[in-house]
This record gives sequence, structure tokens and C-alpha cells, in this order.
Amino acid sequence: QEKDYQMMLRTRTPGGFVPPQFYLALDRLSEVYGNQTLRVTSRQAFQMHGILKQDLKTVIADIVRSMGSTLGACGDLNRNVMAPPAPFKNRPEYDYAWEYANKVANLFTPQTGAYYEIWLDGDKIISGSESPEQKAARQQDLNAAIFTDSVEPLYGLNYLPRKFKCCVTVPGDNSVDVYTHDISLVVITNQDGELEGFNVLTGGGMGRTHNKEETFARLSDPLGYVEKDDIYKLLKAIGAIQRDYGDRSNRLQARMKYLIHDWGIEKFKVKVESYFGKALQPFQELPPWKYQDFLGWHEQGDGKLFLGILIENGRVQDKGSLKLKTALRKIVEQFNLPLCLTPNHNLIFYEIERSQKLAITEILEAHGVAINPEQLDSLTRYGMACPAFPTCGLAITESERALPEVLKRINSLLEKLDMANEQLVIRMTGCPNGCVRPYLAELGFVGSAPGTYQVWLGGTTDGTKLAQPYLQKLKIENLEAFLEPILLYFQANRELDESFGVFCNRIGFDRLSEICGTFFSD
Ligand code: SF4
Repeated sequence: QEKDYQMMLRTRTPGGFVPPQFYLALDRLSEVYGNQTLRVTSRQAFQMHGILKQDLKTVIADIVRSMGSTLGACGDLNRNVMAPPAPFKNRPEYDYAWEYANKVANLFTPQTGAYYEIWLDGDKIISGSESPEQKAARQQDLNAAIFTDSVEPLYGLNYLPRKFKCCVTVPGDNSVDVYTHDISLVVITNQDGELEGFNVLTGGGMGRTHNKEETFARLSDPLGYVEKDDIYKLLKAIGAIQRDYGDRSNRLQARMKYLIHDWGIEKFKVKVESYFGKALQPFQELPPWKYQDFLGWHEQGDGKLFLGILIENGRVQDKGSLKLKTALRKIVEQFNLPLCLTPNHNLIFYEIERSQKLAITEILEAHGVAINPEQLDSLTRYGMACPAFPTCGLAITESERALPEVLKRINSLLEKLDMANEQLVIRMTGCPNGCVRPYLAELGFVGSAPGTYQVWLGGTTDGTKLAQPYLQKLKIENLEAFLEPILLYFQANRELDESFGVFCNRIGFDRLSEICGTFFSD
């Protein structure tokens, strides 16, 4: 008899958009077939854990019939496309970002009917947000593609060498960690708010492997600007170059960031232009990036409201007095609201009538869910952890289950040092794959052995700087002994309003370890 294999399932939700019927289906399926929780990921998707292998077909078929999809959420192809989660109705650039997140997702959707044959016995239901018109447009786009003659015009017979990640954002909004994707598009509008084109960045990626220097986290480079009518052709050109030149002999070197690192961005650009058929225009100047989480109540811009809700470490569950899962279900059932998953594993309800605000607030309060951002613990608010144990097969050590205690200890330390209001961006992963982008954190913990983490310092609050490894192995019991001298030095020597990450970069790691000691270093 076959073992009871447990599977993880991930949703295809471009821009984090989840219609109400899809949410209710996920909630129900997680109760019946999963581990009674849902997990919001840092790519604006849901993961459902603990599904027995024999139940997978039932669950996926139910998802597709509930306006959802899992197509392309895993594998060597384009993954979930990200976008800023704020549903502003009076800022057209946000609309364009969401629209193009969908379009990019549709463009890179595999053409094979195998998904429907395997999971739905060939029943081709139009799923997710792709309408028949969109599908026809996608087919047309693909016909003009840089194609292969296989059933997959873009992916060819062997798909891509490795996973591929895209996002679309608006100038100044870095809620998506814009530098961490294979392709990032930045919407460029004219003074009337009409879409003109896109700035394009390429070559970002977080994953690496301990003790293999040839693997590294990398921030993307500006590639150029393209008119809106050319965007599909450019995207296909970039995807096709990775298909044709990405390293297929070594999976550790297969992401597009290594191709761009090896070639340099200029050579890569020349190759892109040869596939694209014309020269790229210069990258347009952008305002500074800012990280935003959109928690709490906000005006949508059309008279309605949206509400961002913190989900600690992305885990939607009922636990103790916090009945988050029940509260979310009640709100969706009662008000039929759509929701948007955020890149910081939180969620936003939107399309809320003013008359519904009180009742929604009461439901959340009755279930122990805090919604005033000012009352949230700041380290938890800006922190992220990947799932790791017990649901991720690649985990080396704890993350989601360890971070709350780690943040509690750091909070106690900050209080002891009279730094209680300090805002730090802390991210933790259970292995160097870096699923919650720890290499951008001001204080990043990357699992390296059981109970032991590599410590990264020097990321910034706006997500624009790559952190660097400061300490190879920190046993978590030594957390305070390690951190206290660094925080004290920071407190005594920071410049006015200087953040921790900026301070670490200004001082430099050599000086920092000279002053604060290297006792815990390998
Ligand atoms: Fe991702 Fe590694 Fe965390 Fe697993 S343990 S979720 S692969 S970072």
C-alpha cells in the first residue's frame, strides 16, 4: 500500500487577487483536506499544506471550479506575478499595475491542456481572471512570439531552465521588492494618467546555497524603457533568451540572474535587442522607492474603503484567542468582499462600503484581530518568515514557528536598551533559498543548521540595498549576546534618523565586528 504522502498546493493569484468565492473554497478545502490553515506567501499567493496525495485531484478540481487556479504556481516557468496590493481607484497607475500583472501572467501561462486533462479530466473551465477575450488576445500575442514549434510556443519542449519571477509596480511603490525579480516592470504614465510604457529591470533573484560562492542573491539591473505596445514582445524576448541561454546543466546556476551576471547587463541588453528586433529606449528617471504595507483603513478613492490586516507570518488560522480564520470567513460570507494578498504575507479587503465599516470592525475585534496599525508590534508588522518546518521539505531549521519568539526576545532587548520604538526590518528563512527575501532585511536570519542561522545585515527599510552576511553561524540561544553590543553601538553612534541598515553600511562590517566583537563568528 502506498504511503500517505502529504502535498503542498500553491495558488495562481496574479497581483494577489482572490475573489470571494475562491477564498471560501480555499477556506473550506483547507478544513476538509488540508491542515486547517492557509498560508499567505511572500509572492501574494496562498499555500495549502497537508493535502493527502489521493485528495489532490479533488482539491484542484474544486479550486478551478471556484474561479481559482494552481496552474504555473510551481515548476520551471513563470511563477505568480506580483503587483502593489493597494486597490486605489483614483490612481490609474495602480490599475495599470494590476492589469499588467494579469496580462504578464496570462502571456506566460503554459499552453498545454495537460493541466486540465490531469486534474479535471479534460474539462476546460476558464479559470482565475482570464476571460475568453483575454485568452484570444494571448493566443494572438503568442503567435507573434519568439516561438518554438512545440505545443509550448515560448517554453518549448523543456520549459525554462529554472523558475522565473516577474512583478509590475508603479513609480515609488516598493511593496513588491522590485529588485528581486527576473523581470520587473514599472508603469510609466503621462500627465493625464494614461499608460505610455514601462521601465524594465532584469536579473534579480534571492536564492543561494550555503558554502557555494558561485551562488548568490542579486539585485536586478535597469534594462531600459519600452512603449506599451511593445511590452509583450519584449517580455517574450527576455523569456526566450533565458530559455535558450540559461544554464541547463547545473540547477544551482540556472536562474537568469547568473546569465546576466556572467554576460553583464550590456551584453544581455544587446541580445535582448536582437530578439526584440529594435533598440530599447533609455530607462526613465524614477522617484525614490518606498516600502508600504497598506495596513489599517484607507480610502479607495471612489468613496469605498479598503482594510489591510496583519497576518503574523502569513498563517491564517484560529489559535488561542486569535480566531483570524473564522473572522476572515465571516467577513467574506457576510459582505462578499474580494481580497488581495500582499507581498508581506498580509491581506487587504476592498470594495468596502462605508456602511459596512463598523460591522467589519466588530467582527475582527470579536475574534481578537487587531487592525489599528499604530497598535501593532512594529517588529512583527515589518517582519517576515518563510514556512520552513514542518511543511517545507527544504528546511534546515525553524522559521515561521521560531520568529515570534525571536522577535519577542529582540523586543525585550530593545526595551532594556531604551530603544523600544526602534523599527527594524527582520526576516527569517529556514534555508538559503530565501523565500521571504531575507537578503534585503536590515537583520536577516538564514537557517544554516538546526537552531543556527547565518546573520545578514545592511538591507534598508525601502528594500533597495542588498544585505551582506555578517556572521556565518549564530546559535539562536546567543541572540542577545550577539545583538546587544551592535545595538548599543548603533544607539551611541547613529546619525539623526539613521536607520539600522544604513548605519551598518556606513560603519562597515570590519569596524562593526572590531568594535562589537567576533566572539560568535566561526
Ligand atoms: Fe523557502 Fe527554504 Fe523557507 Fe523552505 S525553508 S520555505 S525553501 S526559504
